[in-house]
Amino acid sequence: MPSLAHHIRALQPSATLAINTMARQLRSQGHKICNFSVGEPDYPPPHGAIWATVNSLYTDPIRYGMAGGGLELRTAIQDKLSKENGYDVSVDQIVCGAGAKHILHHLMCTLINPGDEIALHRPYWTSYRQQIASAQGVTVDIPYHRDGGQCPYDPEYLDQYFTPSTKGFILCSPNNPTGHMPSQQQLTKLARYLLNKDVWIISDEIYEYITFDHPHQSLYNVCPELKDRYIHINGISKSFAMTGWRMGYLAGPQPVAHLVKTLISHSTTSLPIFVEKAATWAISRGSELMSESIGKLKSKRDAAIQLLKGVDDLTWIEPHGAFYLFIDLRKRLQTSGCYLKSEAGTYDTLQLSLDLLHHHHVTVVAGEAFGCPGFIRISYATAMGDLTSGLGKLVEFLKTLSPPT
Ligand code: PLP
Repeated sequence: MPSLAHHIRALQPSATLAINTMARQLRSQGHKICNFSVGEPDYPPPHGAIWATVNSLYTDPIRYGMAGGGLELRTAIQDKLSKENGYDVSVDQIVCGAGAKHILHHLMCTLINPGDEIALHRPYWTSYRQQIASAQGVTVDIPYHRDGGQCPYDPEYLDQYFTPSTKGFILCSPNNPTGHMPSQQQLTKLARYLLNKDVWIISDEIYEYITFDHPHQSLYNVCPELKDRYIHINGISKSFAMTGWRMGYLAGPQPVAHLVKTLISHSTTSLPIFVEKAATWAISRGSELMSESIGKLKSKRDAAIQLLKGVDDLTWIEPHGAFYLFIDLRKRLQTSGCYLKSEAGTYDTLQLSLDLLHHHHVTVVAGEAFGCPGFIRISYATAMGDLTSGLGKLVEFLKTLSPPT
């Protein structure tokens, strides 16, 4: 058999999707599974968006659309970015694709030459690393957790990770997997640092509507001077619970948008017109559509934190947005001696997540997927009843991990 591309062979499948598939299999065998691994809201999309889809199917010619998104959709996005984000771009600077994942993948192919480095904080969303690798780039991850708790956005700290090969920096806020949102002060520090670096700035703001304690603020807002290198990523999957519609977009410098669009014209060609119509409907109405559902998510976050406080030695980065908690089990595992690997200081949270699924019917995503063994991610976007019963099981399981007597 002829050989396959080395860099594609080296890719890892999505850990989130893998654990979900296992959970589905167990469910099909009749087991009740408390699933905390999914990265999607549990509440329904806006009714109007569903109607816009159906209406379009009946009334629009369902043919090829425009590569990179039709004018109506891009105009709705342009208005939204201007009104809500204070970010003024022309419609030519906006490109829509089949989900933010699709857009990010095409963006990596557009920005990266073989060997170029993309810096990001670790824990990182699992797909960035694989997308960078599929474009033959190198991920340079910057540990978020610093000894002594110093700010991970300090210029002298970042400087240890930026090299002459650094081509871009990814910021994801609100963050997957931690729910973290940098403060204004941290954003300012980061922006000032990036201002002096000749790198692309990829700002993944897909969770921007899902915030609980203070509104989302983008890096661009604190430093509009970054505009020439700033690439905003967004979509309808999280904001409007429209994961299955598959629509995401970028807004950025015209040459970048032009090339991403060219690439899309040779991959997926265009979005289905009924998806565009639904996305236009939702985006032009904005966050108001989801405020009730997001209020409920806040109660779930608070309930989840309350339950986890019942276990000694657990910590997490304070989640102010998205719908994840990234739990640091390292201390608990170290004191109990459980799930430690023979290499000093490494943890087997992958095995822990499999044991949790098979013996307790609870799914979580192991920290390994986000570059952080010793942690687990839970998504609390699930029914309150499942949240309390599933977290109850998780808490009981974690309590059994105690020092040998
Ligand atoms: N960015 C982040 C941080 C995500 O968590 C996700 C999905 O989980 C995406 C982008 C991609 O979203 P979609 O492809 O559904 O638009």
